[in-house]
Amino acid sequence: MLKAVDVIVARHMGFCGGVKRAVEMARNTAQSSEGSVYTWGPLIHNPQVVSRLEEAGVKVAEELDELAGDAFVVSAYGVEHSVLEAAKAGGMRIVDATCPVVIRAHSLAFKLVEDGFQLIVVGDHGHPEMVTLKEVLGEKVTIVHTRDEAAAVKLRGRIAVMSQTTQSMENFRQIVGDLALRTKELKVVNTLCPAITVRQEEAEVMVEEVEALVVIGGHHSANTTRLAEIGRGRELPTYHIEVPDELDPAWFSGVRKVGVMSGASTPEWIIAEVLQKLEEIGSISHE
Ligand code: SF4
Repeated sequence: MLKAVDVIVARHMGFCGGVKRAVEMARNTAQSSEGSVYTWGPLIHNPQVVSRLEEAGVKVAEELDELAGDAFVVSAYGVEHSVLEAAKAGGMRIVDATCPVVIRAHSLAFKLVEDGFQLIVVGDHGHPEMVTLKEVLGEKVTIVHTRDEAAAVKLRGRIAVMSQTTQSMENFRQIVGDLALRTKELKVVNTLCPAITVRQEEAEVMVEEVEALVVIGGHHSANTTRLAEIGRGRELPTYHIEVPDELDPAWFSGVRKVGVMSGASTPEWIIAEVLQKLEEIGSISHE
């Protein structure tokens, strides 16, 4: 039977390497621990995965005084020193699931500052990866999120620019371009994570080929939101959903081709459920 809706699924779906590693480390820690296992805030920005982890024994701490028990799992993006110190003071074993891509980006930032550069990082204010960087480098690093913020930075001496690993490629490109025109020489260090850029590049192509885009991932997941922004930026009907129940068949009325993408913290099981539901919607509208 011909389907009413043709569903095109992106090649890069599901967990990235760093998220997969962090989730496995948290689950293994819970299995091997006798006492409580905590993360600071959600381990990853996907509530369904976080709630499965809670069922497996990984609790989410929101207050420092909750940090007592057997083990503390550091999230893929790292954690503030004050939190780490509180966990250690609570007698907890530290399980460091910080993604190696984030560790590398931070090391490069430290090196640039050591080498005397004025460092500008394109990132999201308040994101753990930026908070931990600022914690170590203080005034020696300036975090900017927009072109306006970058334009307001006073440049002096040798300038280096890099990005948060999950930043939008386009935003980074624009800010680098602006800075390059304001300096005689600009050192650009590309610290965008390949697992993120590959999805953004795929989104750029997909939005040209489909009539609607479904992006699956946590509503608070920055990298998922960025994929949806690429669709909306082209004025393509774009739907950012977390779970299949959010799909509304009316969205696909008269639509022949739907693209499906996912963020880097979206589990395979949710993707499979969404595809199943889309399949049903396609068949239903055909009948
Ligand atoms: S998106 Fe990249 S930097 Fe972030 S956890 Fe995944 S692999 Fe690591």
